[in-house]
Amino acid sequence: MLGFFPAPYPDEILYSILARYHIRSGNTSPKITLRELFNSQDVIATVDLPSNLKSLIENLQFISNYQVEDLIYKYTLYPFYSVFLPPKRASQVMESMKADFGGDIHTRTGIMASSLKMQRYLRFCPKCLEEDLQKYGESYWHRLHQTPGVLVCPVHGVTLQDSTIPMQGFNRHEYYAASLENCPVVAIQQTYSQETLKKLRLLAQDISWLITNNLFSRELEWFQRKYIALLIEKDFATATGRVNQKRLLDNFLFFYGVEVLEAVNSMVNYENEQNWLFSIVRKHRKSFHPIRHLLVIRFLTNSIEEFFNTDYQYKPFGEGSWLCLNAAVDHYLKPVITNLVVTHCLDNKKPLGTFSCSCGMVYCRTGPDETDEDKQRIGKVKTYGKFWEQKLKELVEIQKLGLRETARQLKVDSRTVKRYTAILKLKTFWKSSEKNQLVDSQEVLDSNLNLASDDKIKYREVWNALQQQYPEASKTTLRGLAKGTYIWLYRNDKEWLNKNSPSLKVPLPCVGKVDWAERDKQVLEKVKTAVRTLLSAEKPARITICRIGKSISLLALLEKHLAEMPLTKVYLESVTETVEDFQIRRIKWAIRRLNDCGEEIQHWKVVRLAALRENCSERVQAALESELYKQPNEINNTF
Ligand SMILES: [Zn+2]
Ligand SMILES: [Zn+2]
Repeated sequence: MLGFFPAPYPDEILYSILARYHIRSGNTSPKITLRELFNSQDVIATVDLPSNLKSLIENLQFISNYQVEDLIYKYTLYPFYSVFLPPKRASQVMESMKADFGGDIHTRTGIMASSLKMQRYLRFCPKCLEEDLQKYGESYWHRLHQTPGVLVCPVHGVTLQDSTIPMQGFNRHEYYAASLENCPVVAIQQTYSQETLKKLRLLAQDISWLITNNLFSRELEWFQRKYIALLIEKDFATATGRVNQKRLLDNFLFFYGVEVLEAVNSMVNYENEQNWLFSIVRKHRKSFHPIRHLLVIRFLTNSIEEFFNTDYQYKPFGEGSWLCLNAAVDHYLKPVITNLVVTHCLDNKKPLGTFSCSCGMVYCRTGPDETDEDKQRIGKVKTYGKFWEQKLKELVEIQKLGLRETARQLKVDSRTVKRYTAILKLKTFWKSSEKNQLVDSQEVLDSNLNLASDDKIKYREVWNALQQQYPEASKTTLRGLAKGTYIWLYRNDKEWLNKNSPSLKVPLPCVGKVDWAERDKQVLEKVKTAVRTLLSAEKPARITICRIGKSISLLALLEKHLAEMPLTKVYLESVTETVEDFQIRRIKWAIRRLNDCGEEIQHWKVVRLAALRENCSERVQAALESELYKQPNEINNTF
């Protein structure tokens, strides 16, 4: 039972309160303090997610009203992790923190599996330290400053500094209070650019909001659903949720910059197909480090608060109600439609809205609506409805209006009027000139009703998907990949096929004077693309001029005219690989592969998978050792 307990300072972490308790208790040994606090002297002084907290609360019961959950939410890093953990796992972590055995806490949060490096020392903000000393006469450890991802003080905008107290200490059973001795203020060094500092400050503000708002934990799907809705809204994904990875990655990189992402160990790049950014927005079973969620959230929204408080749903046609486009009724162009069903075009994956009005008209159009004109656009009318048909009858048979005038009043084209007068067997009083235009009604009907058959939709879809998958492939290559589809489309849908196939590649001019500077640029682009493709290939292949040249069908040019193309030459020199270079890349690839398959990384496995010969050079041997040494924590970018 404790006789006193220090009142916590704003944003003070439990570790710090306990350290101040130790000082005030006058205990000579930290073990006595541990026994007083926890009834056990084996407790480890943990900064982020301490355990034995139920015992602590019991010892506090006569001097405070703390509930153990309060303590956990307000004075530990639990809320930082719990928000992004599935509820069941979050509550397991909470239970471990309450219990006297907390050994599995860090495993449960996934921190252990994370490739994100933990900070090594307790941190402080020199300005906060100064202010605390003035205000309270003593310094203390801020909870926010110990939170991963907080590298800049959100209040003062200065870089946090390392104290001399390690997170996992020299004496694991002692609490060290913050002091001027262990928080030596180095002359403030600006280690980040202004731009980076600004971004890191925003990140710190988000984290501050996150840990002070008692958010409850959610299933991973909750986040993924929101991410996808936002990606669609920002045009990083199709309406069906297919993510444009290159666009996403480019914009993400541009938004944060390399310095920020490296500072928080969350760099993304093209070469790594196991990119955490792509994984986190996809349906995934594993959880991700809070920092990575926070990076995505800030990228997609204006603030974390907005993210948690807004229900994002992709609304390609905006909020209801929607306009009735039936010119035959009084509520024409009035927002009276409340019944909208959104599906997706099979062809182009765009959203397809079907609007059903109380007047009986049902029309649809593809979205999204981007302008006010879009909101008045009809893609296709499915049903005109009784009122429209009555109006048509009235205009044609009673008012005896001409074809064009009828069409004008109903805001449809003449064909539609003709078609429906035929269907409804109306008696027309059209002028003979108009009658001459009247082709056989049955023919009009047929052509209108000749909708794309299911087969057509299916084959078109296959053909489009193929082109998306192989953007570089020629028509001939695609034909080879999907013969049946090609033949069907060629026979039944030739015009569409021609319009929707890669155009013939225009060969480089062979005669006349060559503009080498221009050609250099063109070839460089092709070479770069080829290298990217080679680097992302399933099985690594050595990057050589020969291989690149063959893959873009310009081998002769590269072999004979490299001297005339200095840009391409320099680039090629920088990317082509010696046998050694290639062996080293294979080593890295093999380790990634093994990791992906959940295999243990062992020397012999890597050697075999990377197909290394015996008697590799010293450089390759050294690279192998160093890659193996890095295991298992650094290779795995996601967790
Ligand atoms: Zn500060
Ligand atoms: Zn209507």
